[in-house]
Amino acid sequence: IFDTFTIKSRVRPVPDFPKPGVMFRDITPLYQSPKAMRMVADSLIQRYVEAPITHIGALDARGFLLGAVLAYELNKPLILFRKAGKLPADTLSESYATEYGEAEIQIHADSLEGGERVLLLDDLIATGGTLLAAARLVHRMNAEVVEAAAIIDLPDLGGSQKLQDAGIPVFSLCAFG
Ligand code: 5GP
Repeated sequence: IFDTFTIKSRVRPVPDFPKPGVMFRDITPLYQSPKAMRMVADSLIQRYVEAPITHIGALDARGFLLGAVLAYELNKPLILFRKAGKLPADTLSESYATEYGEAEIQIHADSLEGGERVLLLDDLIATGGTLLAAARLVHRMNAEVVEAAAIIDLPDLGGSQKLQDAGIPVFSLCAFG
């Protein structure tokens, strides 16, 4: 059974990382707990097992860990959204602003053909810049984002609202205010 406390108690707040004034929510303790990890995976599997998705799109890097579990369990193709400079073949890129500065993500140009229905996955939604950039890449490839899912939402940073305003449904397992 899902219980938010098991998840939230495994997220460690780290003040002033990666720069002063930022409260970083460290999820490595969650990944170190088989019980919490299974709860996270099972909840997402249950939510999407009947969903009309064709592809799992996982975000570099902590989203990859969840993405692999879901792609395996739901038996769907896994596509990777990587930080710039990591993917070796032809790519499409999107730049975006983060809490900490500028960033760029890329997808392999042959990851999608058009018409796919993608579930985007990351560990955490802060300003929403990363998932919005990933959604732009999906849209540029004439595919659709069914939902953007994360373990944690930080609603005060406005990202989940921004995604919803852009017409992208959002799901998170828990939130920190
Ligand atoms: P956003 O683009 O929504 O501002 O930031 C989300 C992205 O940055 C995610 O890929 C996430 O992994 C990373 N990120 C930003 N802040 C945090 C945080 O406090 N904790 C963790 N675990 N990741 C964060």
